[in-house]
Amino acid sequence: MSSGQARAEELRRLLNRAAHAYYVLDAPEMEDAVYDRLYRELLELETAQPELITSDSPTQRVGGAPADGFQSVEHRIGLLSLDNAFSLEELEAWYARLLKVLDREPGTPLAMVGELKIDGNALALSYEHGLLVRAATRGDGERGEEITANVRTIRTVPKRLLIQHPPAWVEVRGEALIPDATFAAINAEREARGEALFANPRNACAGTLRQLDPRVVAARGLDFFAYTLHLPEDWQPGPDEPPRPTTQAEALEWLQAAGFKVNPNRQLLPDLAAVEAFFSRWDTGRRQLAYATDGVVVKLNDLRLQDTAGFTQKAPRWAIALKYAAEEAPSKLLRLACQVGRTGAVTPVAEFEPVPLAGTSVSRATLHNADRLAELDLHAGDTIVVRKAGEIIPEVVRVLPDLRPAGATRLELPRVCPECGSGLVREEGEAATRCVNSSCPAILRGALRHWVSKGALDVDGLGAKLIEQLVDKRHVKSIADLYGLDAVLLASLERMGAKSAENLVTALAASKAQPWHRQLYGLGIHHVGEVNAKALAKAFASIEALESAARETPEWITGIHGIGMEIAQSLQQWFATPANQQLLEGLKKVGFSLAASPEDLAAADAAGADAAPPLAGQTFVLTGTLPNLSRSQAQALIEAAGGKVSGSVSKKTSYVVAGAEAGSKLSKAEALGVAVLDEAGLQELLEP
Ligand code: NAD
Repeated sequence: MSSGQARAEELRRLLNRAAHAYYVLDAPEMEDAVYDRLYRELLELETAQPELITSDSPTQRVGGAPADGFQSVEHRIGLLSLDNAFSLEELEAWYARLLKVLDREPGTPLAMVGELKIDGNALALSYEHGLLVRAATRGDGERGEEITANVRTIRTVPKRLLIQHPPAWVEVRGEALIPDATFAAINAEREARGEALFANPRNACAGTLRQLDPRVVAARGLDFFAYTLHLPEDWQPGPDEPPRPTTQAEALEWLQAAGFKVNPNRQLLPDLAAVEAFFSRWDTGRRQLAYATDGVVVKLNDLRLQDTAGFTQKAPRWAIALKYAAEEAPSKLLRLACQVGRTGAVTPVAEFEPVPLAGTSVSRATLHNADRLAELDLHAGDTIVVRKAGEIIPEVVRVLPDLRPAGATRLELPRVCPECGSGLVREEGEAATRCVNSSCPAILRGALRHWVSKGALDVDGLGAKLIEQLVDKRHVKSIADLYGLDAVLLASLERMGAKSAENLVTALAASKAQPWHRQLYGLGIHHVGEVNAKALAKAFASIEALESAARETPEWITGIHGIGMEIAQSLQQWFATPANQQLLEGLKKVGFSLAASPEDLAAADAAGADAAPPLAGQTFVLTGTLPNLSRSQAQALIEAAGGKVSGSVSKKTSYVVAGAEAGSKLSKAEALGVAVLDEAGLQELLEP
């Protein structure tokens, strides 16, 4: 078997199983975006090697087979799917193909209609002499399930057309849907009853339409938007009635006049540029809608031209669904990398084939720590599902074990530090695995970056690349060594000139005059962020005073507002470490006071005892799981810095702090334009 054949078979098996779970069981086992991308991969394989196509391939079939329990009925007119475009290039390629089929010059503008792609379930409604006689699901496009009794309960589906001289038959297609608020209520009720939750409104809607008891359907509050009209070829309206439609726009008007709800957010689009503008407007506009949409549908306006363009096996050639950038996608894991931070904490990082996610290309995602790595059960060559929601950093959601290469090895954190080779340590009760070698170059680089950062000593002109060179070439073995660097040596380094070298020496010398609290923060003691460093520096006027309190009377430290036992212990440990004592000695030798200067004391007096804390007047909402802080820890930190934590998002919310699995609060924040932070962003605010 060729590798393409094996892969196609694997994809078919996986996609068919997912489609069954999705269409028949209404319980998807895969994210839609993941399904779409694997589907796309299969389609590309089949296009390149048509001999791989089999009749059971999901690319050859529409939807799912009708489920048991309902009568299966044949559609008068086939009910197809839509082809998808995931980018503007794909949209242009579709348009070019369409022009070719219609025998038009490349670039000819053709009028189109833009509609929202409502994420619900297609229904086929049959009217005879104006009366609703049958409603069916799409099923496999040829046969669907007869669900007339259920559809009769939907208030926005007319049981009789508002047409005086209706034709012998009319076929109407449209989307049944459950609005977001109703979906939330249904799931809340199911949760209370201990029932399985619906994955999304579309699956809830599909499940509801297949209820055997129409009373249950009636109680679920379904809605319906009509979008396709089929009339008998020879039918003409009566004298006072709207004319027979010749375009899609007129068909929508006709449907509205006949009593249907037609989505108001439709637009006539004269050319591709207008299509693009319509798409990008709704990419943000959709957040204000009361129901879910997953893209826009673009249809050729002229119904005669539609006829000429015709259909492929699965979908009309005259329409295309333009889908919004996904926030989840599968990718192939390339490598497990490890980052060593300034505290020595080792963070596993997944590196994978680049995937476009929510508008950017993503190829790395943090795995946080060894526990998360073990939980994911990552193996070499795994296909992983990556997510990026809103502003949040990408994360690996799960792996698809079905696509795991045979005999793949399980990935674990290394036992030794990837930077210095010394053994890694994990203390009981700690999430982090650490390198505890204080001269590990990764730790040193992190410590230097922190020391010169804005909130600490704020040294201009000493970026990460330069720090890397200084450490690699062993010009700098500790923070104090920075102060012995001369301009000649600095100028000899890559991408450094004489002028910038001199400026850096001056900036370093000037940093010695930075206030005491910045020096303390710059030491990078675990848990001593900017806010805490300020509080400690105010209470203890020198490093000696702080050290003796930490070692002998920790209750003096915990007596300070906002400072708890965790910080006192961390300080105690820090002072007890010989390497840190050497660091203090070195800093003093190069001229750091590590104590409050007379100016510091005067400034503190002038600011007064009750100066506004950094987050005063700001309101925060927490959602999802943060990688390191628990909810209550995050709340305590915000409150200690003078901020408020609230349970719901409004226009007045200053920030939403979102972690993994962030829910509706995040979407609400995005809809209202409230700033969203991740944990690192919060820490930055706490340590301005
Ligand atoms: P589709 O949902 O991508 O597009 C076709 C459907 O769009 C139509 O049938 C209709 O129901 C709907 N639609 C909404 N607004 C419309 C409008 N204005 N005009 C015309 N149609 C409109 O295609 P599909 O064949 O229904 O389903 C395929 C999709 O289902 C995939 O993209 C995938 O995301 C999802 N799926 C997911 C899984 C899973 O495991 N998660 C499995 C199978 C399918």
